[in-house]
Amino acid sequence: MDDFETVRVGQAAYGKGVYARRRFKKGAAVGEVTGEVIDTEGYDSNYCIDLGGPRRLEPGAPFRFINHSCTPNCRFTWYEPLSKSDPLPNTVWVEALRVIEPGEELSIDYCWPADAAIRCGCRSPRCRGWIVDPAELPVLAGR
Ligand SMILES: [Zn+2]
Repeated sequence: MDDFETVRVGQAAYGKGVYARRRFKKGAAVGEVTGEVIDTEGYDSNYCIDLGGPRRLEPGAPFRFINHSCTPNCRFTWYEPLSKSDPLPNTVWVEALRVIEPGEELSIDYCWPADAAIRCGCRSPRCRGWIVDPAELPVLAGR
């Protein structure tokens, strides 16, 4: 479908997904998450990323389409600020948590708060049953 430098966006079990176009070593930068930086107090959405203070990054393609897994092969990582006068990070990267082979679907752990949690269908043997921050899982007990 949509080819990017290191990944492509294709069909996944639920909607779209992001797939590796080459092999990545553990710790490798898969790509930068680009999108719209929103600087409005109280802004929130399912996919926005916290940049510190009120600032959020609303990711665009391809990494907007990265799916959740309870045992993900990637995570978002924040670059350290370059100087004290610019204390907020401006860039977010997707980092490989283990070796990823070409064609493998990329995933991250969404770690949503309990009030935003939905049922998870990631099929991991260690699936938590919900797309939720593990620390908030007890809140969902009995649902
Ligand atoms: Zn799961």
